Amino acid sequence: MVNGISILGSTGSIGRQTVAAAKHLGVPVKAISVQSNIELAERQARELNTELVAVYDEDAAKALRRRLCDTNIRVAGGEAGLIEAAVIPSADCVVTAVSGAVGLKPTLAAIDTGRRIALANKETLVCAGTIVMARAAEKGAEIVPVDSEHSAIFQCLTGRERTELYRILLTGSGGPFRGKPVSELRDITPAQAVKHPNWSMGAKISVDSATMMNKGLEFIEAMYLFACTPDEIQVIIHPESIIHSMVELVDGTVIAQLGVPDMGLPIQLALTWPERGPSMSERLDFAALGKLTFEAPDLAKVPCLGLAMDCARRGGTATAILNAANEVAVALFLQEKIGFTQIYDCVSKALDSMEICSDPNLEEILDADRRARNFVREHFD
Ligand code: NDP
Ligand code: MG
Repeated sequence: MVNGISILGSTGSIGRQTVAAAKHLGVPVKAISVQSNIELAERQARELNTELVAVYDEDAAKALRRRLCDTNIRVAGGEAGLIEAAVIPSADCVVTAVSGAVGLKPTLAAIDTGRRIALANKETLVCAGTIVMARAAEKGAEIVPVDSEHSAIFQCLTGRERTELYRILLTGSGGPFRGKPVSELRDITPAQAVKHPNWSMGAKISVDSATMMNKGLEFIEAMYLFACTPDEIQVIIHPESIIHSMVELVDGTVIAQLGVPDMGLPIQLALTWPERGPSMSERLDFAALGKLTFEAPDLAKVPCLGLAMDCARRGGTATAILNAANEVAVALFLQEKIGFTQIYDCVSKALDSMEICSDPNLEEILDADRRARNFVREHFD
């Protein structure tokens, strides 16, 4: 079990559930960081008695500094603050629960200290998976996935040799529009897209789940985390979200991890691993469940998934471009500036317009990320 944590994105869906898990386990929270929600950050900081609160928005950081002047809690601002929260010496684990590629730099900084990375922020791996995994191996920093599918795969692979693995079976619910005809997808509103049948999540990942870009990002995340080729990963639709993913071994044995769809489980495990603590959630009731169902994804209906799988095959900066273009496209969709099906257009056009660098360094990745964002803003905003 970890001794102390910092939480990047403590006010978000994963962040709030991490606070609950830390309280349940009695793990001290040494630092939290947010974008601008200082009301909740102040409550969390006072309740958890953190050493540091990092607020990305500098004006909001100043306001929070005034509000916390009766305490010893330090407030840091901007990107420097986010990095400071990630590497605070009193914590031995950072939970990366910010949304988007903004998580990359603090994650790399935390890896350099050798601490555990409880990784929820999949965009970091999609953007720079090769660099992040190599740096973690070099520095001896353990990456324990929080994403439920990857936590499942991680658990199924524990104690196995890499040579035993035949393939990963990455499950996904299919999102809220699984049964909807393609002709109706164009008119999907942000309010409809953020309502997921099985999970309650932040707006960006909810839209990603609706387009199934989320499963595509997870496909890339799995490829980097478990050092697999794209051919060693199969996506399978499982609407009940009870099997969180599976691994198939060379002899045909399939090992699955099951549980109620509650992110509290993988979050807690990332803090207690390799031990386990008592559950905060409900338990599975198989008799009540009755049956579990599966189907193949229809890539014609969810083109974002196919696009992401294609980027996984292309490698290099392709996945960083995919991720950056998608982040801007989702933001434009949430602001009602583009339609639901245009998210795919933004990302595929950004990919078509840019050259892919096959073995990029960090600078080249950050440059590809910037250019992809600019491309989508220029052509679709
Ligand atoms: P939310 O949108 O709910 O929360 C995002 C959090 O990040 C907020 O605390 C936000 O602060 C903070 N934040 C955003 N930008 C910055 C920044 N520049 N600097 C500091 N903090 C920032 O997201 P989720 O919790 O849903 O998702 C977080 C990550 O976890 C994503 O990468 C997602 O893909 C992944 N994930 C989420 C799951 C879920 O169930 N929600 C499941 C699996 C993975 P503020 O409140 O101030 O805006
Ligand atoms: Mg997931």
